[in-house]
Amino acid sequence: MPDAPITDARTIGTPHLIRMHDLDNVAIVADDGGLPGGTALPGGLVLLDRVPQGHKVALADLAAGAPVLRYGVTIGRAIEAIPAGSWVHEGLIAIPAAPGLDDLPMATVRAEPMPPLEGYTFEGYRNPDGSVGTRNILAITTTVPCVAGVVDFAVGRIRNEWLPRYPNVDDVVGLEHAYGCGVAIDAPGAEIPIRTLRNISLNPNFGGELMVVSLGCEKLQPGRLLPPESIATAGPRLDVVCLQDEEHVGFLAMVDAIVATARGHLERLDARRRETVPASELVVGVQCGGSDAFSGVTANPAVGACVDLLVRAGASVIFSEVTEVRDGIDQLTSRASTPEVAEALVREMAWYDDYLNRGGVDRAANTTPGNKTGGLSNIVEKAMGSIVKSGSAPISGVLAPGEKLRHKGLTFAATPASDFICGTLQLAAGMNLHVFTTGRGTPYGLAAVPVVKVATRTDLARRWHDLMDLNAGTIADGSASIEEVGWVLFRLMLEVASGRKKTRAESWKLHNALVLFNPAPVT
Ligand code: CA
Repeated sequence: MPDAPITDARTIGTPHLIRMHDLDNVAIVADDGGLPGGTALPGGLVLLDRVPQGHKVALADLAAGAPVLRYGVTIGRAIEAIPAGSWVHEGLIAIPAAPGLDDLPMATVRAEPMPPLEGYTFEGYRNPDGSVGTRNILAITTTVPCVAGVVDFAVGRIRNEWLPRYPNVDDVVGLEHAYGCGVAIDAPGAEIPIRTLRNISLNPNFGGELMVVSLGCEKLQPGRLLPPESIATAGPRLDVVCLQDEEHVGFLAMVDAIVATARGHLERLDARRRETVPASELVVGVQCGGSDAFSGVTANPAVGACVDLLVRAGASVIFSEVTEVRDGIDQLTSRASTPEVAEALVREMAWYDDYLNRGGVDRAANTTPGNKTGGLSNIVEKAMGSIVKSGSAPISGVLAPGEKLRHKGLTFAATPASDFICGTLQLAAGMNLHVFTTGRGTPYGLAAVPVVKVATRTDLARRWHDLMDLNAGTIADGSASIEEVGWVLFRLMLEVASGRKKTRAESWKLHNALVLFNPAPVT
């Protein structure tokens, strides 16, 4: 994690640049609305161009071919000579090739052990398998999208007619998705969507209750989705409602069967109570989306500081998004706790390189128009700001897409950076709380876990005051430190995990659909 950003002394009315590292030959404009050409900057430099907020200014003359340095890293090379004071926009920077995967530093960093953080607790729901939920939700798993309309109808009825009678149950959700039939279910890669759906069904927030609605003729049969060995240690009971069974005569009979089956699960969920558990029972997934140049300055470093607190408290933290770490893979392999963990990181990078290559692209396909409007010129710059979410703890585990978490501490779960697919895969890993940073702004939310959203800029936090849970823009404003915001986030997470506080997305019931990652062919 970088030190606190090097910011010019703040005086009201003085232009504000943020430079991340003393090697950097560019800095970003922090001022709302950007700065006009001709602005005299602290230190004597004069802007030659108008520079939008979050965009880069050349701090020195850059010759054609010279490295453009941000975070102390070469984010690209100058395509032409760039005079000091110029706007260094994406059209002036040539992106470097992705770093090779041979000869990386493997588990070379021997970090000082972090002092344990003791005494922090939250109120959670203990599950039969030992995991802990932060919410008490009935999930209805589906094997195939054909059943989605019927399940939606039944969920609506359960929510309206039955949930009021089970006040300790937070919600009922249908786990709907686009997989299960019309797919090459035995192809290499098909195991990813299947195990993702299986492991989501076993998410700690679903209390070990398993209920599946199946059509009957689909490829993904319930016994393949949830074979007995996958649920033996979890202790849940599996109920299956199969719509094509002859006993269901008509649509309403199907709905009645789903509602009747759900009631047994609701009874058991309703009998549960929260109990005080150590903070080590948190399983936090961190992600960013709609990133801007402030993501790597404010919100992501604050999340990184919070991740360090969580790891010190013995919790599990998952970070992800392969294309957003690919350019900094050396930072991750060096932080791996063992050479085996470093090799697993390389394995996941190589798998994803190959996956992208088959589609005729590489990691540079990641950046969006919004990222670029927000000042991020390319994936290298975006990745440097994204990796800092992982804090500074050793990386002690690596998961392939859709796998379930096996370790406490910091784990890299390989996922696409797509907000919905990453969130879905982190649910499968077993997260019970989600932290999401955004600079451009997104109302993202999930039905299964609370999503704590952190704004990178005060302007966004002000405009989206009822969608953002925390403003990390105070770091750029100079009114809070990275560590202070990290602590505020840590305490907020314990409140949210305990159910004492709802996130904005929970209050408004903003729920994005699950999106399974299926790298295998469809038929
Ligand atoms: Ca994302």
